[in-house]
Amino acid sequence: MEDQHHRQITYLRLSIIDRCNLRCFYCTPVQELVKLQHADILRYEELLRLAQVAVAVGIRKIRVTGGEPLIRLGVESFLAALGAIPGLEEICLTSNGVLLADKAAALWEAGVRRLNISLDSLQPERFARITGRDQLARVLDGLRLATTQGFEPIKINCVVLRGINDDEVVDFARLSLDYPWHIRFLEFMPIGHPRRRWQEYYLPTAEIQARLTTLGSLQRLPTVANGGPAVRYRFAGAPGEIGFISPVSRHFCEACNRLRLTADGRLRPCLFQDDEVAIKGPLRAGASDATLRDLFRQAICLKPSRHHLDHSLTSPCRRTMARIGG
Ligand code: SF4
Repeated sequence: MEDQHHRQITYLRLSIIDRCNLRCFYCTPVQELVKLQHADILRYEELLRLAQVAVAVGIRKIRVTGGEPLIRLGVESFLAALGAIPGLEEICLTSNGVLLADKAAALWEAGVRRLNISLDSLQPERFARITGRDQLARVLDGLRLATTQGFEPIKINCVVLRGINDDEVVDFARLSLDYPWHIRFLEFMPIGHPRRRWQEYYLPTAEIQARLTTLGSLQRLPTVANGGPAVRYRFAGAPGEIGFISPVSRHFCEACNRLRLTADGRLRPCLFQDDEVAIKGPLRAGASDATLRDLFRQAICLKPSRHHLDHSLTSPCRRTMARIGG
């Protein structure tokens, strides 16, 4: 379906849980963690019905996110059922990779082929400091196993934080010289954070990119329609890629094709705005598919032309990233 800014909205990010087995300080500060009750979270049959309704209004790609989606029991059979929805062309998954080694075969069986793995450090102690858990080895094992299994592409999303992990950007980029992984550097977004805190850690893409010249020159790769927000490059002869996702310094709103559904059943037109359309209530009150389609259309019509984030504005978001699903 086309939104009011003549953009085709074909992509749904579906958060199936707000809980996570990591505690990344910039995503889910421990002191702010108020877990949703089980009854508040959409049940799998509800998620599947809403996914079918989403396809009826033009969604063709669904990304399953969290919190951490792999900790939700039964996620493999849910993914298989999701992938079987007629008209849905693509399902993909975003995970922190801690359970990837255990679940790679089942995910493959369920029809998942594309993976985005969030990873912010290659140093065990620092990984533990950022995430609150000593799990780096499991994530790396999972990545290698998924590569052998044949998942492609495997994208590694690294949120670059000034003074925390920005000294590792070259090490991350070097992975693309050895593995067919797409290493993507994400600008830190002011979601759920006071401006001062955000500015302390924020590092613009231009600075990150400049540091990678020590590894050689980056060749720009062609933009792919609906290929996502990353600006893609490759080092000469490398099996992997480098990507930059710059929601603050180089926003990509003119090509926005996405809608979000939160784990507690709210349609979110834009990542950076808290305007949401409640859909769980009508769904549980027995709404027809036609009514649910209208709620999707309502959310799509609420999409802004762009976000208005720059250094002087504080994000109006009250939700934390774990409650949105990225
Ligand atoms: S900030 Fe909002 S409008 Fe811009 S790309 Fe993200 S979701 Fe779309």
